[in-house]
Amino acid sequence: MVLTHGHSDHTGSINKVRQMHSVPVYAHPVELPYLEGELPYPRRKKAAETVSSGLTEPLPSNNASELSSIGGLKPYFTPGHSPGHVVFYHEVDQVLLAGDLFTSKKGRLKKPVPMFTANMEEAVQSAEIVSRLRPKRLEVCHGNSVFNPGEQMEAYRKNNS
Ligand SMILES: [Zn+2]
Ligand SMILES: [Zn+2]
Repeated sequence: MVLTHGHSDHTGSINKVRQMHSVPVYAHPVELPYLEGELPYPRRKKAAETVSSGLTEPLPSNNASELSSIGGLKPYFTPGHSPGHVVFYHEVDQVLLAGDLFTSKKGRLKKPVPMFTANMEEAVQSAEIVSRLRPKRLEVCHGNSVFNPGEQMEAYRKNNS
């Protein structure tokens, strides 16, 4: 299992899944102290353990700057919504699993929900991964599929300036 980040709406079924499949759980190393409840997420009052401590392994990396592919998914560090948020790119199908980097509405990219976003400016900067990868399809957790999201980046930047 790979986590884009540790918010509870993205981790709630981990224990159930692990009862059926004994598979490891990965997240970005920066995210670990937040999801294990050592640190409160920025702009939250209390720390909360959203994944049992010690269960999550840090995503492996080739070197300081590049995370290794895992199960055909290449992770990219996209902080902002949470400190250690990542997106996963399925290179073969050119599908970007974007977690909460965006929301979407009627096929359009929208900002993540402000109330649950640690640093919106940083999240908007991290959105540039879409211009770099130019996926055919992007999936968010809160909203429907977005096709050719790279074509919307100019409008997305304007709406966020
Ligand atoms: Zn979230
Ligand atoms: Zn979410």
